Amino acid sequence: MSTVKVKRSDLKPGEVLCSYCTARCCRYFALPIETPENWEDFDHMRWYIMHGHCAIFVDEDSWFLMVYGDCKYLLPDHRCGNYEDRPKICRSYTTDDCEYDNDGTYDRLFETPEQIWEYAHAVLPPRKKKQKKSQESVHSQKLPVVHV
Ligand code: SF4
Ligand code: SF4
Repeated sequence: MSTVKVKRSDLKPGEVLCSYCTARCCRYFALPIETPENWEDFDHMRWYIMHGHCAIFVDEDSWFLMVYGDCKYLLPDHRCGNYEDRPKICRSYTTDDCEYDNDGTYDRLFETPEQIWEYAHAVLPPRKKKQKKSQESVHSQKLPVVHV
């Protein structure tokens, strides 16, 4: 059910939809990620979500990492405080198909590591058992960067 008070169809000539919005599009960003194919891929996703403030969604078979966070230029009244110098992606975004009245429904949405893991168990063949690493080898690993 939509939670917006003013429908797109209610807008009068000259009115801008953003005037009625809490700037939903300025409160996260999303990056495309590789479609997961194996346990390691899902394990990486599980790790992303463990850090909080993010989710993974699938839209038309494309996978995305969504990171929640208000843009530093967002003003208390939901307007852009960097309008003249806002990034290209903000300039090219339009209200035509924006999330003003979408309630965060995606083909798939994963918000917890458990959800990712449960999905992995459903679509992948059983995992092969690995030998335990020693504590020393865990600590000698490099910084936790996933190369995509
Ligand atoms: S583009 Fe859409 S989501 Fe963004 S502020 Fe305007 S109405 Fe809200
Ligand atoms: S620069 Fe302005 S339009 Fe772009 S995300 Fe930040 S507040 Fe929104």
